[in-house]
Amino acid sequence: MARICEEIISIAENTDPMELHGYMSNAGYPFVRSAVAESLNRRFGTGFTGENIIMTVGAAGGLNIVLKTLLNPDDEVLVFSPYFLEYGNYVSNYDGVLKAVPASEADGFQPDAAALYSAVNEKTKAVIINNPNNPTGVIYSEEKIKELAAALEKRQAELGTSIYIISDEPYRELAYDGAEVPYITKHYRNTIVCYSWSKSLSLPGERIGYVVIPSEADDSALIVSAAVIANRILGFVNAPALQQRMVAACLDEKTDVGAYDRNRQTLYNGLKSAGFEPVYPSGAFYMWVKAPDGDDKAFSQRAKKYNILFVPGSSFACPGYVRIAYCVSHDMIVRSLPAFKKLGEEYGL
Ligand code: PLP
Repeated sequence: MARICEEIISIAENTDPMELHGYMSNAGYPFVRSAVAESLNRRFGTGFTGENIIMTVGAAGGLNIVLKTLLNPDDEVLVFSPYFLEYGNYVSNYDGVLKAVPASEADGFQPDAAALYSAVNEKTKAVIINNPNNPTGVIYSEEKIKELAAALEKRQAELGTSIYIISDEPYRELAYDGAEVPYITKHYRNTIVCYSWSKSLSLPGERIGYVVIPSEADDSALIVSAAVIANRILGFVNAPALQQRMVAACLDEKTDVGAYDRNRQTLYNGLKSAGFEPVYPSGAFYMWVKAPDGDDKAFSQRAKKYNILFVPGSSFACPGYVRIAYCVSHDMIVRSLPAFKKLGEEYGL
């Protein structure tokens, strides 16, 4: 995005190098944290201040500081499967135990509140929700989020514990056809949001994001202090200084989802006409496709013959499906369609 480069150049040219490259508070620059809070309040009608925001090294950095803060050894973290495999590594970094709750295949991979309710026990410390979802491309609806919130409120009251939703939102801005991605802090008090600009501004290598810890969450002040220290002692120290300044200047930039949308439609239609069964994605840039004979690993292996790269669903704790990433040029999508046709023919589709 040209605006991002211009902003980076202008900041580099117009800021005193001592100020530009120096350390700052481990939580990030106060003016950046306040700007993020105000932007969220404008967009979602929330009531955050800079004190609720910690600038992080992407969503991955955010998830790690939050898990480091919340987890004691053997604490459980629930997640709906299929899920981003790194969650397992992040949770085990802090001696926690990740437990998967299957999303409802019959309900288009929406989360199942009744299944979540049954999976919660006295060791459950958090539930990670990734919306829009990697790998399915599904957006969890407001109705589903309300059901999840009600199930967790009920379970917290029964057990007398605090159970946090960790909302992992790097794909928040990638929503198609005007779909709304619910802001979970408005539905559930004990929500911590992990956001990043990796996908919305297409700069994953720059490692910039933030965590929101709302004041109404249980032990909010303690969690903020501990997460700031976690940012330091996990070795992140602080989010990249130049990128903090850049995002503060670009908070109102709109993500152009048009190119992804075009890829989404061309790929979906091509897969359907080749006889496959993809889930129509409402967000992110992934397509979740059923393996014709149920064997996702063999399907991925066969696809390689045609230079098609899938990630098998087994890698997301959900065999039987594969994930295609369509964050590539439109030309590549168009060129891939004859290859999908041939792959379909191998399966007699
Ligand atoms: N969460 C999910 C679901 C992701 O897909 C990714 C990256 O692909 C991340 C977190 C990490 O994002 P970041 O690059 O901002 O750390």
